[in-house]
Amino acid sequence: MNLKEFLEMDGSMKKYELLPLPYEYNALEPHIDEETMIEHHTKHQAKYVDNLNKLLDPTPAIAYPIDVIVRRIESYSPKVRNNAGGVWNHQFFWPLLGTEETQPNGNLERELIKQFGGVDEFKAEFKDVCLNKSFGSGWVWLVEDDGSLRITITPNQDNPLMYGVKPIIGIDLWEHAFYLKHKSNKGGWVDTFLEILNWNQAEENFNK
Ligand code: MN
Repeated sequence: MNLKEFLEMDGSMKKYELLPLPYEYNALEPHIDEETMIEHHTKHQAKYVDNLNKLLDPTPAIAYPIDVIVRRIESYSPKVRNNAGGVWNHQFFWPLLGTEETQPNGNLERELIKQFGGVDEFKAEFKDVCLNKSFGSGWVWLVEDDGSLRITITPNQDNPLMYGVKPIIGIDLWEHAFYLKHKSNKGGWVDTFLEILNWNQAEENFNK
């Protein structure tokens, strides 16, 4: 957003909001249970929204769109970093899930084959990074950086936009994302994610 667009905003973004999921809480059953979805959205994501509103206290000024905050995150405190990341990451995450069977297609499929050897090879490497290279709470992403696809890790609620890199896919590896169903079986959660990944959304993110 440039300065002109910023000044023309109508004030409708005075507070950050908990955006609704793009589907019902039980829509991803039996892959992701309704209780996990309700907890994750109405407790965890909601908390990041509340915290961010308190920290930035945007009234009566107009709040920047959340993606503007995360792209300029170096200008903000660590607390804003964590909560703005928490808001943006979850808004990015939910549309990446769905039970309609989709397959990588188009440009993204071509790049996955070129750079990982195939879609199955990409999935295996993604899972390996989740299980063996990411520790504690954080996210693992497929990103595009300078024309190359890479699998990368961010700690806490950081995300690729904070580092000037384009996110295509991201998995929430905080225990709150999977513990009710999978307990400590993080591998089961990663498998579920890869099974119900909405490749149409991934393709859209890639082509942005
Ligand atoms: Mn989460």
